[in-house]
Amino acid sequence: MGEKKKVLVVGAGPVGSLAALYAAQRGDDVEIYELRNDLRDPTTTPLNFTKSINLALSERGINAMRRAGRQDLLDHVMSATIPMRGRMIHGRRPNGDHYEEPQDYDVHGRTIFAVDRGGLNKRLLDILERMPNVKFYFNHKLTGADFRKCKAWFEIQGRGASTESRAMEVEVDFDFMIGADGAHSAVRYHMMKYARMDYQQEYIDTLWCEFQIKPKDGAKSDKPMEKFAISPNHLHIWPGKEFMFIAIPSDDGSFTCTLFAPSAVFGQLELSPSIIPSFFNDRFPGVTALIQPQDLISQFLQNPHLPLINIKCKPYHYAASVVILGDAAHAMVPFYGQGMNAGLEDVRILFEILDKYERIQQAEANDSHGSTSALRATALAEYSAVRVLDAHAINDLALQNYIEMRSSVLSPTYRLRKFLEEFLSVYFPGLGWQTKYARVSFGNEPYSTVVAKSDYQSKMLIPDRCAHYFLSPCALGRTTNGPDAKETIVLEPAGH
Ligand code: FAD
Repeated sequence: MGEKKKVLVVGAGPVGSLAALYAAQRGDDVEIYELRNDLRDPTTTPLNFTKSINLALSERGINAMRRAGRQDLLDHVMSATIPMRGRMIHGRRPNGDHYEEPQDYDVHGRTIFAVDRGGLNKRLLDILERMPNVKFYFNHKLTGADFRKCKAWFEIQGRGASTESRAMEVEVDFDFMIGADGAHSAVRYHMMKYARMDYQQEYIDTLWCEFQIKPKDGAKSDKPMEKFAISPNHLHIWPGKEFMFIAIPSDDGSFTCTLFAPSAVFGQLELSPSIIPSFFNDRFPGVTALIQPQDLISQFLQNPHLPLINIKCKPYHYAASVVILGDAAHAMVPFYGQGMNAGLEDVRILFEILDKYERIQQAEANDSHGSTSALRATALAEYSAVRVLDAHAINDLALQNYIEMRSSVLSPTYRLRKFLEEFLSVYFPGLGWQTKYARVSFGNEPYSTVVAKSDYQSKMLIPDRCAHYFLSPCALGRTTNGPDAKETIVLEPAGH
């Protein structure tokens, strides 16, 4: 801290890129090492995704970008977003007709935003590229690290390193490493040899596959909204108990859609692809009018079928030399739309803590190297202590919300609770009531505080004895997939 350091960022995804920007803004020498080719090169296909993936960006992610101190970042990213004011629930009436029912996210009119993850990432890379103290090393894979000696080893990939010849390896020294290399993090793996890290990972029995709704033909340029086949200002959900289909709008009028279903169902559809259109007709009313049956089949067969992983670990740092952020620290299932938002928030919180200790150091006018690194170790320990609680809380919320998105959005009890909480929020603002969704998506309170406040509101709305009588533990969001899940009255507001 204080003096200029060499910061190595491993992983140039959204979280690594934002962390690099924060470090570079503080004057450090930043080197970014990324396994893949430059995302801005049109030949690069993002890892695990078909072309691009649309995400829900909300306050925590926006706030982290706002605090990066580059208004051009936020202006550019936000100009390419589409506000989503609520969910659009798609269902079928008893007579078989398809209906759409909007459910606003927020009684005060706040929205979340659809954003192209690749576009956000590219904008960060563009800004970093123009900073004199930032260097990029694409096609560099972290293969080893010594966190006592602060040395790392990278294998140069692809271009220049033939598969037959031994891959070229480079050794790099650093003062501080930030590991933002995703769910299968190599930084985390090597850190485990140094830190006494608790680690837990779980694959849920759900796979996901991307589909696309095309823009409508013939939209007039003066009526840009006409290019969308369904409302662009909603996150569309087809809840299907065991399954779920969602659609998020893109700037060009298309929608990026995702099918979530148990792996056995994916297996059946892979074996008999001809049943895919009738599978969609039965479960997701209206979808075959938006994606032609033949396209449904080809997109299902062409696009990857990917797993969902939930990772919890602690601590997130080792001594003064390394910290892991984003999916590397807490990959979560996507049902609260918070994975990237939480990762960007990690960056803000980490640098706020580092800055706090830097101010302490300046106040004490003590800038010897030893105390610099001791202070950073203290700062990182504080970061782990604060952030582990909150990351675990959002990991759990995200898991719980799968049930809620698939079915509770249709439940009268869920709607009643939402109504009561919003009523109190509007007419008795002094009470400070909000739905859990609003606290997670429109605020910056620590996730663990959100859970505590929401539990308190549950207790106030449903006194213990009633809750005992009416609700199973699952209904209170404590378990997610118990055998009785379908019968449960769920009272938690749904995510996404
Ligand atoms: P990543 O994006 O995984 O980036 C890691 C980078 O590290 C990659 O570029 C990779 O190539 C590089 N790397 C890996 N290994 C190495 C190595 N050994 N050496 C060097 N580099 C390496 N989040 C939201 O906030 N809202 C949403 O609506 C949302 N929806 C989602 C929907 C789906 C279907 C999925 C799967 C996820 C969703 N997420 C969402 C989560 C979000 O995509 C992730 O949380 C986010 O991308 C994590 O960013 P990251 O930078 O931590 O990791």
